[in-house]
Amino acid sequence: MLNSEIAQRREKAIARGVGMMTQIYVDRALNAEVWDVEGNRYIDFAAGIAVVNTGHCNPKVMAAVEAQLKSFTHTCHQVLPYENYIHLAERLNAAVPGEGEKRTVFVTTGAEAVENAVKIARAHTGREAIVAFAGGFHGRTFMGMSLTGKVQPYKTGFGAMMNDIYHVPFPVELHGITVDQSIAAIKQLFKADLDPSRVAAIIVEPIQGEGGFYQAPAELMRAIRALCDEYGIVMIADEVQTGFARTGTLFAMEQYDVAPDVTAMAKGLGGGLPISAVTGKANIMDASGPGGLGGTYGGNPLGIAAAHAVLDLIEGDKLCERATSLGNKLKDTLTSLKSDVPEIADVRGPGFMIAVEFNKEDGSGPSADFANRVRTEALSRNLVLLTCGVYGNVIRFLAPLTIEDSVFDEAMGILKDSIRAAREG
Ligand code: PMP
Repeated sequence: MLNSEIAQRREKAIARGVGMMTQIYVDRALNAEVWDVEGNRYIDFAAGIAVVNTGHCNPKVMAAVEAQLKSFTHTCHQVLPYENYIHLAERLNAAVPGEGEKRTVFVTTGAEAVENAVKIARAHTGREAIVAFAGGFHGRTFMGMSLTGKVQPYKTGFGAMMNDIYHVPFPVELHGITVDQSIAAIKQLFKADLDPSRVAAIIVEPIQGEGGFYQAPAELMRAIRALCDEYGIVMIADEVQTGFARTGTLFAMEQYDVAPDVTAMAKGLGGGLPISAVTGKANIMDASGPGGLGGTYGGNPLGIAAAHAVLDLIEGDKLCERATSLGNKLKDTLTSLKSDVPEIADVRGPGFMIAVEFNKEDGSGPSADFANRVRTEALSRNLVLLTCGVYGNVIRFLAPLTIEDSVFDEAMGILKDSIRAAREG
């Protein structure tokens, strides 16, 4: 089979709204490498968008899933429950940042985790309004899309968003928005438009993922925490992309001196199996009555089994430390190119959640064109990269944390060649 033949069939079979970054049809994948239907090999620096942090087909994740497959695959926890679901909740309750007793609910996708975090905050507070950040991304369901701080392409054509959602600017010094401005905007919102006693939650990504890998400054987190405490608002951390060792700690919020009330997580939790979770303070999580939360597939046994293996691997293989050492090497590689490549505006990120941002050569503004050229050049050399950012001018690096040193070094060579070629092109 040829990629081009499948691509033609895709056009006739799949709705146009499903975006497409490559036409590489996968045959098999192992750790950080992927082989397509034509037998071409690629190095995968996307990892299913920060999902297989523990690598494609990690043998320990596979073994856990296989063992579960042999006993049972689905009973629906609400009907016939199973112990490893409870145990995974206990592990997350202990690991998620924040003091005191916690509770967890399992669902299936990132958007669903966000939906449930908001439902829980509303049930707990008896309020409706939600404050979110411009540039943030929270999913494609109606609440996720409404909370997302970017119109094109996420909201276009989909009509009225959920009401009572307010967006404030996210601090990005590189684009002239300071943390003080951002905090002032929330306070101004509370003065001019929105009575804070009507606010159920403030939702924030510790590092905006789709929005461009911009990290929330500690000052912003402290200010959000203080406002939440002052007005009885639930602070929700969306750790869907930052979670599970990606940033050098199990959760990015561990790197702050304040903790959220509720955490939404997904992606890396299942190591490639669909599972997501919401974990938070017991009194908040218990606000919804029985039957208000859950779903047929929430906490499916295969996802639960995989997640246990993922947590074991992160601990046993010291993947947080590995994230930091890989990220430092990647940052060194990118920084070493700066003097030859004036388009490089910024290299940033904790752990292995690294991004490079490109401007036009004369520094006159963001260059999505340059970022896309780098991505295309890399793909032609069999390295899969992803872009992101409200201007589309950022390349984000999300390779598995388990990538072999030799494959990582090979990727660094390709990356350098691709950036140089993008300049020449
Ligand atoms: N929140 C964040 C921060 C995300 O990065 C994403 C996915 N990119 C989502 C929510 C939505 O997750 P999903 O695609 O699994 O619904």
